[in-house]
Amino acid sequence: MRPRYHFARHLRTGAVAALGALAVLIPNRSFAQGRGGRGGPDTRPEVTFPVNIPTDDARITALKKEAMRMVDSMSTFSQQMVDMVFSFGELGMQEEETSKYLTGILEKNGFKVTHGFAGVPTAWVATWGSGKPVISLGSDVDDIPQANQKPGVGYKDPMITGAPGHGEGHNSGVPMNITAAIAVKKIMERDHIPGTIQLWPGIAEEQMAAKAYFVRAGMFKDVDAVLFAHVGSDLGVSYGQSGQNALISARFNFLGSSAHAAGAPWAGRSALDAVELMDVAWNFRREHLPLTQRSHYVITDGGDQPNVVPPTASVWYFFRELNSPDVQGLFALGDTIARAAAMMTSTKLGSVDILGSGWSGHFNKVIAEDMFENIKQVGMPKWDDKDQTLAKGIQRELGQKNPRGLSERTMTELAAPQRTEDMRGGGSDDIGDVSWNVPTVTLRYPSNIPGLPGHNWANAISMATPIAHKGVTAGAKVQAMTVLDLMLKPTVVTQAWDYFKNVQTKDIKYFPLMRPTDQPAIWLNKAIMDKYRPEMRKYYYDPTKYKTYLDQLGIKYPTVRDTTKTVP
Ligand SMILES: [Zn+2]
Repeated sequence: MRPRYHFARHLRTGAVAALGALAVLIPNRSFAQGRGGRGGPDTRPEVTFPVNIPTDDARITALKKEAMRMVDSMSTFSQQMVDMVFSFGELGMQEEETSKYLTGILEKNGFKVTHGFAGVPTAWVATWGSGKPVISLGSDVDDIPQANQKPGVGYKDPMITGAPGHGEGHNSGVPMNITAAIAVKKIMERDHIPGTIQLWPGIAEEQMAAKAYFVRAGMFKDVDAVLFAHVGSDLGVSYGQSGQNALISARFNFLGSSAHAAGAPWAGRSALDAVELMDVAWNFRREHLPLTQRSHYVITDGGDQPNVVPPTASVWYFFRELNSPDVQGLFALGDTIARAAAMMTSTKLGSVDILGSGWSGHFNKVIAEDMFENIKQVGMPKWDDKDQTLAKGIQRELGQKNPRGLSERTMTELAAPQRTEDMRGGGSDDIGDVSWNVPTVTLRYPSNIPGLPGHNWANAISMATPIAHKGVTAGAKVQAMTVLDLMLKPTVVTQAWDYFKNVQTKDIKYFPLMRPTDQPAIWLNKAIMDKYRPEMRKYYYDPTKYKTYLDQLGIKYPTVRDTTKTVP
């Protein structure tokens, strides 16, 4: 047992108190059991679980070929959706134009749409078909603050300085799923194949603020399998415990009392002092935390002006750890430090808002193996010189001495999951909550450029160019083929649930990391969008006038420069 678990156990009491009536059902041995010795056979149950998927018969082979052809024939349709969502550039919880546009397309194509799902105005669920199996396709749609960037330009060049932009590539996933779903729907209609296709958007993924609420509101209660998709620079899938960290997003609100900062400072109590002391204490304490933790904060309220002792101040933390009990421990430590900071400053910790949360994802071996066969058939897109020039241009711009451009290599083997003791922590995705409720995989599709910083303007560069479009077409083929497998090979679904019940959730049962009283933070990012949207509207894509968004913006593809500059 690793020291981390002792740490978690000490702190869990506080976390549970702070989070209300949470059932902590994960045993301490958690994810660390059942492995073979190093060098010996890998005896972890997720690795030894046998998967037996029948090879494609003549009918399925023909239908998959047809699905691939259909996706190819829809490439202009896919490109327009990708470019359109890129041009909306909306932050989490404010994906109004994006959701209106995408649901409009789905409704036009015969899908039934429920708007405002789980009390989130921009959330929706679309379904088509009837009966079992119910196959669900999801991907995120929100973007990144201050990541506004002209597509196809290989250096920092925003359309609107300071505005948000798709610096994570979330403009591509739902368009990809829509193309795949429409292709499969046509085949199912014609051949009278029973089953239901569901589509949904990951709202405010960057704040981990919606998927746990989708689960709570029952979005997946009748679903047999979820094919999630996230942009990357390769075509791939994985299974088992992901390297993603579980996360609790919490805002600590301090209350002091104001006074004239020069005339009577002794009469005031600074809420900002409490925020600063909390941050200082956290930064000392982090030296003595497990290396797998990640924690970061921004001060969202630091007072109004220097001559008024700040009566209110708030700091927003992301706490991340490998699993849910450990992230609760980390949050509890933050909560303790916040209370101590309030004591030190004679202020009050007014409230602690949970703004988001998410489990570390665990992905289904059976569906991953099935999808992987389709990935091998589809293969990486063929990049041309222009695509490679753009990729190498931005890689050079970021100071990479031997820019490697875009990869054309397709995965040849489905790798076994990383061992828990080798995990070093990292980012998060609230698909984790979904993955602990229904068999789920995440398809990575190659619409972005490798070697970029992430959550950055550089990651927006490719996202309305042929790189994104080709990646989406490749990904849509894999999604469509895998949906066909799930519809036509009932054993895939049966085996997926066998893995889910008897391996994945045998000892670990899902519980939400947010409190029962918590509600989606639908106000997130409203002020930023209100500020920038009027200007951003001028740049919305108009496909009736322009073939591509690059055409509309008058950008020569690719536009790069030769200088080598290191971007901070
Ligand atoms: Zn993302």
